[in-house]
Amino acid sequence: MDFKALGIRDELLRALKELGFETPMPIQAAALPELLDGSRDFIGLAQTGTGKTAAFGLPLLQGIDPARKGPQGVILCPTRELCLQITDDLKRYGRYLSGVRVAAVYGGASIAHQIRQLRDGSQIVVATPGRLIDLMQRRAVDLSNVATCVLDEADEMLNMGFQEDIDRILEKMPAGRQTWLFSATMPPGVAAIARNYLDDPRKISLGGRQHIAPNITHACYLMNERHRYQGLKRIIDFTPGIFGLVFCRTRKETQTVAEALLQEGYPADALHGDLSQAQRDHVMRKFRQQSIRLLVATDVAARGLDVDAISHIIHYNLPDDPDTYIHRSGRTARAGRSGVSIALSTPREVGRLRTMERANAMRFEFRKFPDGRAICERQLDGFVDRIVETPVDPKAFADFLPAVCEALAGFDREELILRFMSADFNRFLEDYREAGDINAAVRPSAVGRPANDRCVRPEAPGAQRFFINVGRLDKINEGAIVRLVCDHSGIRSQQIGRIELKREFSFFEVARGAADKVRRSLKDVPFDGRRVQVKDAGHKRSLNKPDRFRKTRPGIGRLEGRVSA
Ligand code: AMP
Repeated sequence: MDFKALGIRDELLRALKELGFETPMPIQAAALPELLDGSRDFIGLAQTGTGKTAAFGLPLLQGIDPARKGPQGVILCPTRELCLQITDDLKRYGRYLSGVRVAAVYGGASIAHQIRQLRDGSQIVVATPGRLIDLMQRRAVDLSNVATCVLDEADEMLNMGFQEDIDRILEKMPAGRQTWLFSATMPPGVAAIARNYLDDPRKISLGGRQHIAPNITHACYLMNERHRYQGLKRIIDFTPGIFGLVFCRTRKETQTVAEALLQEGYPADALHGDLSQAQRDHVMRKFRQQSIRLLVATDVAARGLDVDAISHIIHYNLPDDPDTYIHRSGRTARAGRSGVSIALSTPREVGRLRTMERANAMRFEFRKFPDGRAICERQLDGFVDRIVETPVDPKAFADFLPAVCEALAGFDREELILRFMSADFNRFLEDYREAGDINAAVRPSAVGRPANDRCVRPEAPGAQRFFINVGRLDKINEGAIVRLVCDHSGIRSQQIGRIELKREFSFFEVARGAADKVRRSLKDVPFDGRRVQVKDAGHKRSLNKPDRFRKTRPGIGRLEGRVSA
């Protein structure tokens, strides 16, 4: 079938012929009849390079009424490069349509020029979400007559932290509009957009399997079966600030693990099929509010669970099939964050890990469980940080202080510190004093790469780590760093690895092949009235040698959650 038979009008056919587009690509053949018909919302699961720009661009152009000025079609996309590329493509396809104008609006360029273009009556606006919000706030764009909204690379937009902006934009558009969503993958956040804003959409998938999100680190710890629960505890204790989802295979296991954690004072709870809807809602509410920081769940019960900010997925037991692994891991690294997916495995299960790696095109980092000393050091660091960062209001204690001071007058400084530490840590130190090595003995060949007994492997092997002189004080999040880097260097967000936000600066990792582009392009880049630079940085220091005075996030669990002995 050719473009004419699919219903494309003559002016567009002429341009396509000049561009050498003879036969529709599969996504075009599948989508064009649906989108030209214009009666239903649409979801297209397709990667870039599949011809999707023409798949939505041609029907969009064909549906524009040139006699009316102002936006009739809006395309939202994640980056400036893509915005310009889509705009160019649409201009080329539509060059013989008279009176149809396309405007590109994106951050980092003169807003005045973009406002002029909009005032000239462009009917199609191709926009990055942040800039469109900016224009909406300045009342420079009127979305009240938009008939079609296209979300291109929706998963990528969410990776870059545009969720809120997309929500705000879609809410401002007329209810009767059509929404066409294109995405390479369908993580829960994209599925939520589809649920909230698309009405009975027609869905077309171009075959390809779901891909694993690039900003997730996959780690694996090997222990013997009898140490599985201790292994879980060590990971939790070694990860202050963890907000995690622990997957078990059965309801019973879920219940047993959650109860054991609760009994030891961790802020944990279970989510499984035996709960009533009301109980389930209650647990979910507490998890969303983060008063539960460890949710232990079965796959079935966690279906549709959509909570941002989950830092860790822990596979207490490995799932049977690779798709479930992707599905589980996709609950972390949302909205531009990075995340860690941790598998607890016995040496006998290494074959299953290999199957997951092959099927999902990913690699596990084989890590060693930290020993008791490393865990205690990590927790004490967190304790010291919390003390240092605790706000103090001397007036509030003025009436009580003299009596307390008198009672403690007999202790010198060091003794006092020891006593305060002991009040919180005695039981904890006790737990780990006798704690032996629970790492399962394995042949190095079984894990395919050296099994270091110290966790010294760089966070993402082969990646270049960069320093950037913006941090939390500049009110940025991970998504903002991804946008900044992608917009200026032209690399894709998948090429960016871990991001560590600090107060005044940050670090991020970039795939080796993309590092040069980042180095060259991020020199003296303007950002919020200041100049941004990047510099090469070394890899992170060994986890087993924490810098005692490093700032860590406040700890959780037994140290905060339990009543002191
Ligand atoms: P896209 O996925 O939209 O970025 O398209 C990928 C590439 O395929 C672009 O270079 C398009 O110009 C080209 N392209 C799109 N549709 C066709 C077609 N039907 N025939 C030949 N090339 C096409």
